[in-house]
Amino acid sequence: MTLPNALYIHVPFCVKRCSYCDFNSSVYQTKIADRYIAALEKELGSVADYPYKTVYIGGGTPTAFGEKQLGRMLSAVSGLLDMKRIEEYTVEVNPGTVNPKKLFSLKDGGVNRISLGVQSFSEKGLRLLGRAHSRKDAFDAFHTLRQVGFDNLSIDLIFGWPGQTTGEWAEDLAGAVALGPEHISAYCLSVERGTPLARDIRSGRIPVPDEAVQLDMLKKTMSFLTSAGAGYRRYEISNFARRGRRCRHNINYWKNLPYVGIGAGAVSYLDGRRSSNVRDVLRYVTRIEAEAGSVTQNSARTFRERLTPRRRAAETVIMSLRMTSGIGERDFAGRTGFSLLELYGDVIDRLCRLGLLSMRQNRLRLTRKGLFVADSVMMEFL
Ligand code: SF4
Repeated sequence: MTLPNALYIHVPFCVKRCSYCDFNSSVYQTKIADRYIAALEKELGSVADYPYKTVYIGGGTPTAFGEKQLGRMLSAVSGLLDMKRIEEYTVEVNPGTVNPKKLFSLKDGGVNRISLGVQSFSEKGLRLLGRAHSRKDAFDAFHTLRQVGFDNLSIDLIFGWPGQTTGEWAEDLAGAVALGPEHISAYCLSVERGTPLARDIRSGRIPVPDEAVQLDMLKKTMSFLTSAGAGYRRYEISNFARRGRRCRHNINYWKNLPYVGIGAGAVSYLDGRRSSNVRDVLRYVTRIEAEAGSVTQNSARTFRERLTPRRRAAETVIMSLRMTSGIGERDFAGRTGFSLLELYGDVIDRLCRLGLLSMRQNRLRLTRKGLFVADSVMMEFL
């Protein structure tokens, strides 16, 4: 079995729920957060021996924790893992939830990369998205992160929200580039069922996002961020980095390599099996607390599936095509045991003739045209 190099830790708390959010998070409450951290510590103990190279604490909003709670979680990580092996240690931070004390404790805990959830610099956008912070909070958080000494920062942005103009998106991009982060993630807004935003759109209170405008924005994103002035390279559909600053943790996912996830709702992928923890925070905590001192990797699991070799092969192509480097034939064979052309020769031929994929030097990639219809291209491999 290939051992996992990537560990994800989920923190399912936020100071407020954003209007578009369907992630597993709820509003922060001190008492349940204390119990949650104690449960995380126990679960971490059951998976600490793997040879991790990357750790990613995401959410939710990890910095919604109070200072002591944050310190306790970071101590659990540095106390239980072999920190000498960890090359990249990322924590998601939201503007408005940080102060120098919290940031110094991240730095002292070994965190060397921060993903800052800005989403927009426009007050109009932040209001529509229901974010808990202002434009000023975003700038303040970024500058404080630099002052504390973080030299590997990523900014998350969302485009294509209802009513956003291409000009407003250009301003967001320019605002991010002016700050000079090492990495930028730019995601097109997806309106998920059951969210307040979806309800407002259905009732007509908020207009439906315009797909043609979103497509224009995607084109603008690529040309602007990869221009000589901005200096980023696109390495994944929605991710742009300066040289040497690609997110190693996420690349592990895109290569469909094994990983471990702990916390409520976290997913693990080990030895061809995918499993996930119970999603509800209270049920997660109760399940872990009920284990009398012997938490195992299965203590909070509610779902498990063994993927067939064909399914694993399909997922390997689909995930790898998200990256501009695509996937090489030899790499595919090494990871799945199948020949790429024997398995998908017909599909690849057809999509290459349509100009959506390219196969050059034994490497399969999305073309620029394919990138704009990436989801449909990927479905062809299922
Ligand atoms: S900060 Fe992120 S996880 Fe929390 S409510 Fe907003 S979108 Fe959801």
